[in-house]
Amino acid sequence: MSTARQTAFTALSYAELSQRLGSATRAKAALKWLYKDGLPASLPERVPGVAHREWARLRVNHPLPAWKQLAKLESEDGTTKIALELDGAKVETVLIPGPQRSTVCLSSQAGCTRSCAFCATAKLGFLRNLTAGEIIAQYVLAQRLAPAGRPARNVVFMGMGEPMDNLENVLSAVELLTQAPYPALSPAHVTVSTAGVVPQMRRFLKASKASLALSLNATTDETREKIMPHNALWPIAKLMETLRTHATDRETFIEYVLFAGLNDTPEDAARLPRLLEGVPARVNVIPFNGNEGSGFVAPNNDQVVSFQRAVARGGIRTLVRWPRGREIAAACGQLANKV
Ligand code: SAH
Repeated sequence: MSTARQTAFTALSYAELSQRLGSATRAKAALKWLYKDGLPASLPERVPGVAHREWARLRVNHPLPAWKQLAKLESEDGTTKIALELDGAKVETVLIPGPQRSTVCLSSQAGCTRSCAFCATAKLGFLRNLTAGEIIAQYVLAQRLAPAGRPARNVVFMGMGEPMDNLENVLSAVELLTQAPYPALSPAHVTVSTAGVVPQMRRFLKASKASLALSLNATTDETREKIMPHNALWPIAKLMETLRTHATDRETFIEYVLFAGLNDTPEDAARLPRLLEGVPARVNVIPFNGNEGSGFVAPNNDQVVSFQRAVARGGIRTLVRWPRGREIAAACGQLANKV
């Protein structure tokens, strides 16, 4: 009964749907249905605007990915986390309401192929890559939770997993998210976040117009290697060279998880803008979200603000990403299938 062989319905592009349904109008109706009314457990017998015969055939050949919602947790600030089981793989997806638009935070792997010392997902180990159809299924489910008037028009690949280690599926999902007529997100509003896997970063930057976020998290190789072991393979200079060579056509987000007493010195704040010279970038300072037994120390708000100001004085746009949904373990680095 493996659905892996068949392309899932959620992974079909507009062009593929048009071809299989015999008309672009039907394909548009099918996509409209998916993003408006999806996701049932399996495809219905009829979809408005799609001829019955073609739909019946498509339905058999391209089922929905197997999915089950295990839990839904809503935090006081409106951030909502859904725990899903996708064909046996447990993942979490987060909807973060914003003032005008909401953001969906997607998982790209069940568990993670990287072992960042501070991240709760890393503790799970790696189960498997998610398919493009499973990534889209998360978006379909999460976007329906957006509050009225604040549609989910931003997507970040900052949930579980290292997107660059599942690049084919992530690139397909980005294509699907940005395709007209639905859901037609702007590539600038789809951000793929990486722990810094250089060869795949290059491929991503060549293949996609979507935004890139790099989780830098340190300004020296010595510190970075302690918390992100793969830095031994792709050190900071290599990361910067990659951005300088391949990412000058867009603004890259530099994620900097701030730990008290580890990467928060005035020297770090001074080095960061210098490292980023020649890279169109903005920095997001993310206060460390504690997870059990990590041994890292969260900075207090004053430390966060003074670090942010010091980096900004170096001439680079720098914002603090204050945590959302911490009490439901939905904030950065807290996704660990605990529900
Ligand atoms: N593997 C990708 C995407 C998932 S992590 C990456 O590394 O970018 C998304 C963001 O959460 C990254 O910037 C990561 O550095 C940050 N993060 C991980 N654990 C965290 C924690 N405990 N507190 C705050 N941010 C964390």
